[in-house]
Amino acid sequence: MSKKQKGVDLITRIGHIFRNKEGKRLDFDTRPYWKQIYNDMSRYVVLMTSRQIGKSTFQAIRILFEMLVTRNTSILFANAKKTQNNEFRQRSLLPQIYRNRKLLRAAFGKSSINNAKMMKLSNGSTLHLEHIGTSADSARGSSARTIIADEVQDIPRENLDVIMESAASFPKDSKYRFTGTCKDDRNLMYQLFLDTCQFEWIIPCASCQEDNPPIGMEHLDLEREYLFCSECKKPINSLEGRWVAQNPKCKRMGYRIPRLIDPNTVWRNSADGILDKYEIYSRNKFLNEVMALPSIHGEDLITLQELESFCEDRPIMDPDNVPRKEIEGQAIIAAIDWAYNTKIGGVSHTIISIAKVEHEHIKILYMKRFSGPYYDGRNDPDLVLNEIVGLVAAFGVDWVFADHRIGNKENQRLKQRIGKRFVEVEYSNGSHPVRWKSDSKRYSIPKTESLDRLFNQLRAGRFTFPNVDASTEYLTDILNVYTHYNDELTRRSYERKGGASDDFLDLLNFTLIAAIQYYGDNMPWLGKYSYQD
Ligand SMILES: [Zn+2]
Repeated sequence: MSKKQKGVDLITRIGHIFRNKEGKRLDFDTRPYWKQIYNDMSRYVVLMTSRQIGKSTFQAIRILFEMLVTRNTSILFANAKKTQNNEFRQRSLLPQIYRNRKLLRAAFGKSSINNAKMMKLSNGSTLHLEHIGTSADSARGSSARTIIADEVQDIPRENLDVIMESAASFPKDSKYRFTGTCKDDRNLMYQLFLDTCQFEWIIPCASCQEDNPPIGMEHLDLEREYLFCSECKKPINSLEGRWVAQNPKCKRMGYRIPRLIDPNTVWRNSADGILDKYEIYSRNKFLNEVMALPSIHGEDLITLQELESFCEDRPIMDPDNVPRKEIEGQAIIAAIDWAYNTKIGGVSHTIISIAKVEHEHIKILYMKRFSGPYYDGRNDPDLVLNEIVGLVAAFGVDWVFADHRIGNKENQRLKQRIGKRFVEVEYSNGSHPVRWKSDSKRYSIPKTESLDRLFNQLRAGRFTFPNVDASTEYLTDILNVYTHYNDELTRRSYERKGGASDDFLDLLNFTLIAAIQYYGDNMPWLGKYSYQD
C-alpha cells in the first residue's frame, strides 16, 4: 500500500488506542489482510467472513473509534437477535473500554448512558443497538449517521431497508457497514457482497510464479496440512497476499475473508482444524462458515453416477443363506419405512434395508420394497410383518429403526414380535441433536441437519451397496429430494419431488443414526461425530 500523504493513517491511530480480545496489541503482522480493512474509510463496506476471524473485534474498535474522534456522531448497530447484540456488547464492545482507563475516562462522564440498548459518550456521540431479525419496527423512524448490520445472513432484506432509511438525514456523509457469514447464493449476505468491488486475497506462488485464484475448494486436500498453490501444489504464503478487486469498477467496498487466508490457521487439531471441519461439517456448513462461500441453491445433492460408484461386485444377500461370519461381531441394523396411503400418489410400499456397520463403512447387505402382485391387493395384515420378523431373525438384526406415523399400528405389532430390538424414530423440524424422548419412547431426529450429514457421508463414500443392477432402483430414491430455501424463515429444508419416492433415503438416514447411537463414543469412524451448530 502507498504511504498516506497526511499524518498518521487510521490503523496506526487505532493500534495506539485499542487491544485485541486477549488484551494484547492488534496483530496486523500475522494478519495482514485486516490492515486495508481497518484503514478503509469508504462510506460503504461489506465483509463476508468465515466464523471466528476477528470480525467482532473489528466492529467494536471501528465503532468506538468513530464515536471517540467525532463529537455528536450517531451510530445504529443492528443484529438479527437481541442475544447477538448482548453478546457483542458484553464480549467485544465493553471490554475495549473497561480495560483502558484513559479510554474509560474519556468515554464516560456525567451525561453518559451505557445500557443494553444505548451508549452515549460524554462527547455526545451515541450508539443504538437494535435487533431486526424478525421485525424492524423498533428501528423505524430512528436517525443515525452510520448504519451497521451484523450477521446480515439472518436479517430479511426489507428489515435492512428500514434501518438504511435511518441515514436519510445524512445524505452526504452517511456510512454503511454490513458483515456476516454466507448462507446460500440467494441469501442477503452473498447478494450484498456481489454488489461490491469483491476484494479477494490473492496469493502469489513462489514456485510457479503464478497468482493463485481466489481461495476456493481447490485449495483443500485432506493429505496437505498447509495452504498450497492450486496449480503446482507447492506451499504458498498467505502473508504475501494482497487484496485484488474482482469487480473493480464498483465503488462499494466488499471483502471476502475465508479462514484459510489467516496464517494462524490450524489445519489439524482433534475436531477443530480446517481439515477436521472439512471431514465433519456438512458441505454447506463448511462452505459457509469456513470458506466464506455461498452454497449453491438448487444444486444436485449427489448424482446417480456418484452413487453407483459405491456399488460393489456382490448381490443382495440371500436371507436363506446368510454367512455367519458376515454378521458376527458387528452391529446389524435394519431400517423400515411403512407403507401408507397418500392422498395424491396412491399407495406407497413398505421398504426395509439391512446393513452391517463395518470399520470404515456402512455396508448395505439387503433391501426390499414390498411391492408387486404378491403384495398388492392382498389384505393379509400379517404378510409383510411375518416376512420382516423372519428377516430380523435371519440376519441376526440388533436394532430395527422404524418411522413413527400417527395412527400407524404396525410399529406396535412389530414391537410385540421382536421386543426391545425395535426402536421408533420421528423427524422434527427443529435444530437440535438427535435425542431420546422418554415420554413418547422414540428418537427425535432433526430432519434438515441429519440429511445434511447423510449427504455428506454419502458423498464421502461411507455407504457401500450391492451391485448396480440390484441397487439402482433404490438409489434413484436418493435423487428424488432437493433442498428448498425459505426466505422468511432463513432456513433450508429437504423436499420431495412430486409423486416420487424418497423412502430409501430415509432408511439410510435411520441406519446412520442408529449406528451412531448404537456405538456412542466407540463409533469406529465417527468418534468425533456430533451435530455441531
Ligand atoms: Zn504454484
